[in-house]
Amino acid sequence: MDIAAQSADILANLHLIRQRIAAAAAKAGRSATDIQLLLATKTVAAENIKVAADAGATLLGENKVQELKEKDYLLGTLPVQRHFIGHLQTNKIKDVLKYVTCIQSVDRQELAEKLDSRLQYEKRTMDVFVQVNTSFEESKFGVHPDEAIRLLEQVKSYGTLQVKGLMTIGLFDADPEKVRPSFRLLREIRDTAIQQKLLSPDAAHLSMGMSGDLETAIEEGATIIRVGTAVFGKRQYPDSYYWNEQGQ
Ligand SMILES: *Cc1c(COP(=O)(O)O)cnc(C)c1O
Repeated sequence: MDIAAQSADILANLHLIRQRIAAAAAKAGRSATDIQLLLATKTVAAENIKVAADAGATLLGENKVQELKEKDYLLGTLPVQRHFIGHLQTNKIKDVLKYVTCIQSVDRQELAEKLDSRLQYEKRTMDVFVQVNTSFEESKFGVHPDEAIRLLEQVKSYGTLQVKGLMTIGLFDADPEKVRPSFRLLREIRDTAIQQKLLSPDAAHLSMGMSGDLETAIEEGATIIRVGTAVFGKRQYPDSYYWNEQGQ
């Protein structure tokens, strides 16, 4: 496909996604302005991401430090924020901190500790989310739901890490009703965390919902949805390449 046709597709898709967000918010009695759209841009060329950014997209998510690095020549010049949403190996910490304003995938204490020590060295802070494995699938990253509050406490104890919410990849199923319990569980953990003063009510994001299940996520309280395929088209690699250890 040529660039012009690709751009037209991206713009049309972005428009559709905004309509889906508005419709889902209305149905849930929520304001669409309370839901941020994060574009999941793994495998997408920087030029195509720029098309979306020029059309008003301001929040991007990448899964691999290598891709952040490769696309930085262009994305680093745009008025966008980049979040890290993939599995983060501790040997990539120094690199990832060059590109992102938030790491949504903090899923273990060791990672929090090493992030904190690097951030102390650089004399700066970083927004983070705790990633929870709400589908109980072994192939997914994220802390076990029973351990989530404890990890939040640990992460909060590091002065350089500013916890802004929770993230999950729900159960992968075409049936929204099978996915809903994942999202509901994340919301319940968030509410407990607010009660226990581990999250402040005005910074207690729920990052959940993707191309196939964003409506369900919005109904369950998502404040950030992460959308890739529905804007940029099908990816060449299976998501397992990004979502589990085999992909590392
Ligand atoms: C790829 C990805 C998404 C987006 O998934 P789509 O189904 O393409 O919308 C969201 N979150 C994470 C962590 C991802 O890796």
